[in-house]
Amino acid sequence: MSFELPSLPYSKAAFGNLLSEATFDYHHGKHHNAYVTKTNAAIKGTAHEGKTLSKLIRTAEGGLFNNAAQIWNHSFYWLCLSPEKKAIPADLENMIVSEFDSVEEFKTRFAQEANGHFGSGWAWLVLNEGKLEITSYHDADSPVAHGVKPLLTLDVWEHAYYIDYQNGRPDYVKALLDNAIDWDFVASNLDGEGVSRADQG
Ligand code: FE
Repeated sequence: MSFELPSLPYSKAAFGNLLSEATFDYHHGKHHNAYVTKTNAAIKGTAHEGKTLSKLIRTAEGGLFNNAAQIWNHSFYWLCLSPEKKAIPADLENMIVSEFDSVEEFKTRFAQEANGHFGSGWAWLVLNEGKLEITSYHDADSPVAHGVKPLLTLDVWEHAYYIDYQNGRPDYVKALLDNAIDWDFVASNLDGEGVSRADQG
């Protein structure tokens, strides 16, 4: 059993100027696809073959960990995005306001984490023992490896934004946070339902 590149849940042109078709061509069609191809080649004929993606992430090291975690992180990231602007469901909004005082303050702090992350990595909103937390992980590292429940992520590798925003990571982060987050998916991750959609195997 090998892993597959998941289809995007929207058309590559759906985001207009927020994220271009060219970005999806490279980010999904080249980068994400390469992580799938490399992972499948690395596990073939080994004890890792047949594991779910999340189990593989928890048991692999080095290059295999990096490629497997990047499959999962990207699959989850695509699901976090929506070409239609969505409202935050009330239950999630109440939790955000309770933890960060307001939705705007939450967005400010999430953007600070994403923009302040040095080099390649991912900014995350996670649930850690029932408490909302903003964090970031370097390179391919993933919440799957840390025992926290992922709710929302933004990819802050340069390949995520360079075509559309060049070096303007803050512009990319603000544009997506304000206009292109699938808050229904984020809320569904509170009970783990959405998370399983990023897993395979
Ligand atoms: Fe990426």
